[in-house]
Amino acid sequence: MTWTAEDIQHWLKQFADQIHEHKDELTDLDQKIGDGDHGINMARGVKEMNKLFDEKTFATPGELFKAVAMVYIGKIGGASGPLYGSAMMKMASSAGTQETLSDKELIDALKAGKTAIEQRGKASVGEKTMVDVWVPLLQKFDGSDVDWNAFSDEADELKAKTKEMHAKKGRAAYLGARSVGHIDPGSASSALFFQTLAATARE
Ligand code: ADP
Ligand code: MG
Ligand code: MG
Repeated sequence: MTWTAEDIQHWLKQFADQIHEHKDELTDLDQKIGDGDHGINMARGVKEMNKLFDEKTFATPGELFKAVAMVYIGKIGGASGPLYGSAMMKMASSAGTQETLSDKELIDALKAGKTAIEQRGKASVGEKTMVDVWVPLLQKFDGSDVDWNAFSDEADELKAKTKEMHAKKGRAAYLGARSVGHIDPGSASSALFFQTLAATARE
């Protein structure tokens, strides 16, 4: 599809709905291997994002991503806020001033966001962080002729795979081997991010 700023706003509103719906679940996951605030952090961020959407309309996807980046950086907090925020910031640079993005251009923007998360958090695949969803997912789908059902299923599978991982980065790393057996909370919120994207693309 061709993504206008309005389409992207629609996607991110669905992401916000899903975060609110899964808030307790995200917090429970973080209670198991972290400090129990991931659902609260994300809900605070997306609530503020929705406020921004009520107040302002955006001419381009890039403009929208940049404004959302500022909200995420300022409002989510914790480790995940700067990570999601820098991803959005790089997505804004990648989208530039174009009025619309093709699927390929949107996936390219997400790839730039993925690189920002890797650079900021310095985590690699297999260390039980959101990188375990972002990196393999965006490696698998290069943006030409995306099968959005497969994209959505893959995001869910990648999230599930973090369960058996031994955390090496973030708070869960303090637990060492005891982190095994629980899904990484940031991977769970990232799966919602990508699944709502796929749902919007399929509409
Ligand atoms: P905090 O751990 O500061 O309380 P959150 O609970 O909001 O922050 O977010 C935790 C999530 O952030 C983790 O589940 C993980 O996915 C992600 N995360 C933490 N550290 C890193 C890192 N260095 N690189 C990538 N992701 C990370
Ligand atoms: Mg936490
Ligand atoms: Mg915290």
